[in-house]
Amino acid sequence: MTDTRNIAIIGAGVVGLCAARALAHDGHAVTIYDPAGFPAQNASAMAGGMLAPYAEIEHMDGAWTEAGLRGIALWEEMAGDIPGPLGFVRKGSLLIAHPEDAHMLERFRAHLPGGEKSWDYINPSRIEKDIPALFRNALYLSEEAHIEPGKAMDFLCASLRGQVDMIPEAAMPGELTGRFDFVVDSRGYAAAADDPALRGVKGEILLVRNPEFSLSRPVRLMHPRYPLYIVPRDDHIFMIGATNIESAGGTQVSLRSAMELMSALYSLHSSFGEAEIVDIRAGIRPAYPDNLPRIGLEGTIIRCNGLFRHGWLLAPVMAEIVADHVAGQENRFTSLFTGESHESDRQRHSL
Ligand SMILES: Cc1cc2nc3c(=O)[nH]c(=O)nc-3n(C[C@H](O)[C@H](O)[C@H](O)COP(=O)(O)OP(=O)(O)OC[C@H]3O[C@@H](n4cnc5c(N)ncnc54)[C@H](O)[C@@H]3O)c2cc1C
Repeated sequence: MTDTRNIAIIGAGVVGLCAARALAHDGHAVTIYDPAGFPAQNASAMAGGMLAPYAEIEHMDGAWTEAGLRGIALWEEMAGDIPGPLGFVRKGSLLIAHPEDAHMLERFRAHLPGGEKSWDYINPSRIEKDIPALFRNALYLSEEAHIEPGKAMDFLCASLRGQVDMIPEAAMPGELTGRFDFVVDSRGYAAAADDPALRGVKGEILLVRNPEFSLSRPVRLMHPRYPLYIVPRDDHIFMIGATNIESAGGTQVSLRSAMELMSALYSLHSSFGEAEIVDIRAGIRPAYPDNLPRIGLEGTIIRCNGLFRHGWLLAPVMAEIVADHVAGQENRFTSLFTGESHESDRQRHSL
């Protein structure tokens, strides 16, 4: 049994909400601040919601894949626990490429773990009847999942109401340290104002409705110029994303990005030519120079940031680490997120 602590959380993105849930679950008195409300419109709300631990395997260490699989397991638990649909679906994902880009699939496959059956080459029409025959070779990643961010934030906020004090105001870590035992700083990109290592990476997305097309799982198109993913939502709505622009300037979508997203989508299936545009918007992903998430421990302040493209995948794991830290326990992923494991790797390599 853990001692009850008085804990403030600053920011109600996916990181802050998952931390609030994990800490309230452990019996702590939690207060969460966000001037944008509950649920807030933020980077988390507009994300694709792909829970894809293998997506960045070419750039991320295998330990992050393990952490990502833990993230999926934690969402699976929450989906069974929280009253109301989070839009969590675990039916894997598909990677496809035009025949001339088939080498990209093979290069990606070479990074996947061997032995276990986390992947398979399949003819996609076996599981997704609307994928054109042109894409006859696809990689199926059976362990991946997806979630609907808008729904999940609605239900997370609803499940916290009554358990957690929700204050629709801005706060700063330094102001709260005297009043709370711990302060979790999960302000996303806003924390760049006092954390010079943090940068913003703009991501633009398109939402369309196409009654002529169906999907049960996310599909990623590997393309040398226009890589894209498409995530199914209810009612034949599809989320298409996302650009990756090294800029935190503005949340407007550029004409060029809109054209690129739309033409890549049309190249996937011509029925998208008649699709109705439901929305088009942009958000800012918080990222550190290595594009890896980070937990910074400074006295009673716990800084959780840099979730970049993996906020939905890794926020529950980060929250579990925070809850374990407050309880004085080590989590098997603590050193991965605090950077100690990279530091010891770096030191080993430099010996
Ligand atoms: C287009 C796009 C697509 C994405 N797709 C995926 C995906 O498919 N899968 C995936 O895993 N990840 C995805 N991501 C990444 C993911 O969305 C982010 O990593 C995640 O949203 C970061 O969450 P956060 O809680 O750190 O920040 P945010 O969601 O930005 O939340 C921070 C909150 O802090 C609040 N705040 C700021 N300052 C203060 C203050 N002083 N006081 C109180 N509150 C404050 C803000 O109002 C905001 O609500 C995507 C991101 C984008 C932009």
